[in-house]
Amino acid sequence: MDTRQTIDTFIEFYRSRGHERITGSSLLTSPDDPVLFTSAGMHPLTPYLEGTRPHPSARRLVNNQRCLRTTDLDEVGDPTHLTVFEMLGSWSLGDYPHSDSLRWGHELLVDGFGLDPGRLHVTVFGGDDEVPPDTGSIEVWSDLGVPIELTIEDNWWSNGPVGPCGPDSEIFVWTGNGPPVGTPTTDPRWVEVWNHVSMRYRRFPDGRLEPLPVSNVDTGMGLERMLTVLQGRRSVFQTDLFRPWTLVLPRLWPGLDLAGERLVLDHLRSGVVVVGDGVRPSNTGRGYVLRRLVRRALTTLWRLDPGISLGDLPDEPVRHTLDHFGQDSLPVVREILVSEERRFRALLERGRTVVSRHRSRNGGPLDDGDFHYLHDTHGLPRDLVVSLLNEG
Ligand code: ATP
Ligand code: MG
Repeated sequence: MDTRQTIDTFIEFYRSRGHERITGSSLLTSPDDPVLFTSAGMHPLTPYLEGTRPHPSARRLVNNQRCLRTTDLDEVGDPTHLTVFEMLGSWSLGDYPHSDSLRWGHELLVDGFGLDPGRLHVTVFGGDDEVPPDTGSIEVWSDLGVPIELTIEDNWWSNGPVGPCGPDSEIFVWTGNGPPVGTPTTDPRWVEVWNHVSMRYRRFPDGRLEPLPVSNVDTGMGLERMLTVLQGRRSVFQTDLFRPWTLVLPRLWPGLDLAGERLVLDHLRSGVVVVGDGVRPSNTGRGYVLRRLVRRALTTLWRLDPGISLGDLPDEPVRHTLDHFGQDSLPVVREILVSEERRFRALLERGRTVVSRHRSRNGGPLDDGDFHYLHDTHGLPRDLVVSLLNEG
């Protein structure tokens, strides 16, 4: 199954069970949101999940939502984490119980996507001093014959310190060569593809946890991870969705190790989507996330060869990604990549001089005051100074 068929299969499964398809939002959150980017499919639906007002369309919803997680930046390079990724989501706003969601989830994976049920494992909330174990989910999974592992923190879902939250049940698929061994927490070849959250609590700023007026269900399936499983690949980067990039990058900039190749692809592609959603580079907020993505990609490339230029990147992969997300900003993307590269090169040159002068004057290691001085007076961010110091 390719990307299109996978998305359609998910959406159709839920539509035929009474879910209304809603359009996914952009990566940009609303201005009063403390979080910079949409980080999960439920994120734009927060007011409806909290029950403050009814959703204008329906109580059963389905969509495909692009997400960005800065918290996963350091995971990028492994087989399953991306900065920008897509979440296929389904919701019940106080309509049907979590147990129905689990049964449908199993049906879709096995009958809809054709997965061998023997490759599935789930994790379930084992209870803590505030909320009892999720016995409802244990019953359903036992009935379906899926092995269960109980955890505590990993099976409690929240999108931040306050707001809607609840126990969840995560579905893992075995991606190893032989028959499955171990459990999701003991063997990384169990890859989490789908999370079913029983969103029935709300956390308040004072730490209080209260049941919501109605129990909701919120599920999120990682599109790229599902593609990896369906296409029998080793990593998300080997799926059809990334093909236009993997055809080009290793030939354009050969010699990177696997983690470096993945990072460059992920960060450039994520940067393209962020620009496509209207973000421009800056020293704060969303613009700084964009700047960091480009700089991290360049730092990796320049370790290989300081002469590499993003101007050499062909249009094709950029255009493919913009088309995929319904964006239209090829000339802007190209202009930003090249101007950010020029800016970063100039900053590095200035940085090297300033850091070595500062160092020879002060001797010892830099302290917080030095970092502040280099940042405020010379515009050198701390992470950049640290990497310059590591250069020797
Ligand atoms: P993990 O523990 O693997 O980082 P998570 O528990 O943070 O995942 P959830 O918040 O439950 O993930 O998100 C729902 C689904 O979205 C996951 O089951 C996974 O398929 C997908 N997903 C989450 N983070 C990423 C990411 N950085 N890149 C690609 N897919 C992701
Ligand atoms: Mg999860």
